Amino acid sequence: MRNIEHSYIDGQFVEPHGRELFDLHNPTTGGVIGRVRLGDVEDAHAAIAAAKRALPLMARTTKAERLHMLQALEAAMQARADELYEAMLEEYGAPAVFSRWVADYAPASFRAAAQTLADFPLEQDIASARVAMEPVGVVGLITPWNANAAFICGKLAYAIAAGCTSVIKPSEMSALQTEVVLRALHEAGLPAGVYNLVNGRGADVGAAIAAHPDVAKISFTGSTTVGKAIIRASADTLKRVTLELGGKSPTIVLDDAALETVIPAVIGTGFMNSGQACIAGTRVLVSEARRETFEAALKAAIETEVKVGDPRDPSTSIGPMVSQTQWERVQRYIRLGVEEGANLLTGGEGRPEGLTGYFVRPTVFTDVKNDMRIVREEIFGPVLAILTYRDEDEAVAIANDTSYGLSAYIFGDQAKAERIAARLESGRVVINGAAHEPLAPFGGVKQSGLGREGGPFGLSAYLEPKTVLGARR
Ligand code: NAD
Repeated sequence: MRNIEHSYIDGQFVEPHGRELFDLHNPTTGGVIGRVRLGDVEDAHAAIAAAKRALPLMARTTKAERLHMLQALEAAMQARADELYEAMLEEYGAPAVFSRWVADYAPASFRAAAQTLADFPLEQDIASARVAMEPVGVVGLITPWNANAAFICGKLAYAIAAGCTSVIKPSEMSALQTEVVLRALHEAGLPAGVYNLVNGRGADVGAAIAAHPDVAKISFTGSTTVGKAIIRASADTLKRVTLELGGKSPTIVLDDAALETVIPAVIGTGFMNSGQACIAGTRVLVSEARRETFEAALKAAIETEVKVGDPRDPSTSIGPMVSQTQWERVQRYIRLGVEEGANLLTGGEGRPEGLTGYFVRPTVFTDVKNDMRIVREEIFGPVLAILTYRDEDEAVAIANDTSYGLSAYIFGDQAKAERIAARLESGRVVINGAAHEPLAPFGGVKQSGLGREGGPFGLSAYLEPKTVLGARR
């Protein structure tokens, strides 16, 4: 049992004012593995006040000083990467490959922010004006449970690069992972108050940060519903907001894509992070002509090659859902798909045989219509839907017929794929499984979000341009 009893305010681990104790679970077994004391609105206000006090000094730091901080953070986080990997496996249950990816991404995000800052003009002349890029102020960083450590580090890295001070509100369900990150941040030895962290519930700590007049910007990753609540809460103080929200991403399989490469790619894209990924390719589009062959190959591959089970086992592709609530949500959607008239190609309700934790069966629906709720709503589990198209125009129309637009995937002929990519309403399009580019802008269109993170676009979101006219040239 691990007990986490503190918030982090003004460079100190402090006992929260909040008294609620929140159980932490190992989703592989369902057992309780720890408890976190949650902060409350008073703790949120204390953290905001500390960030406000630290802002004047932080805002005046030079590029070189910020680069130095980012290097110290990267080294400290790197030193705890293995510990973070262990915490991810235990508290979240992500398969080993994804847990390792997050453990490596956490230090790498400080490196990416440093690289971005090094090349970023913090002052420039535009015609007769001098334009200085100044930190936006105190920022609230709010993260979800599905890659909590990666989001804390990714957001904090760019806030520091910009000279902002931060109040972090991580997912309350990820306190063990947060604790590893927090210890690393503390070891990096930054000035007190530059970042502050309060474990707490979204409805009180998160909402207090979103509404507070001393917070200038919110960077939020989470559900579209909560993203909208944050916009409403922050409207009175006209905060800047960056929202990374949900998705229902299309994977378009072109007729010339070789089945032996495209089937594992569709599975990998759809079931990434056990299906609990905002960018998962959950709507799979195949041509009517190829549907039968494709479905047979997908079913066979899932039933023989996709292993659900212990996330520590390197051969596991799908671990447990994060919580009992998430398990029930996925079950409800599988039931709903059947009720709506879709057919199960594979999977269905219940647990895979022999497993007792929050495991679900990898599920694929076929005979799906684009107005069914299983195709329109984010399920956030290993559940895919196959849709068919007659030609390229119809593939594009179906792909775009969604309220989301975070990511899209195309497999097949390069020229055709690039032509289709230009027509998709999506913040990002991945052709033939290309690798993630951390310096490129990441974010969604439509109800997948607002603004971008990462690289120069991400850094700009923490900065306000100040125009000075009449400055000496
Ligand atoms: P969530 O929206 O329920 O919670 C996210 C965070 O917001 C948590 O820390 C929560 O405590 C807090 N919160 C809840 N209510 C709040 C409020 N009223 N005010 C302020 N904060 C509040 O999301 P989740 O269930 O933790 O994560 C899953 C969701 O996150 C999915 O919808 C997924 O698509 C999305 N997500 C998006 C991205 C992206 O980059 N676009 C990445 C990962 C996850």
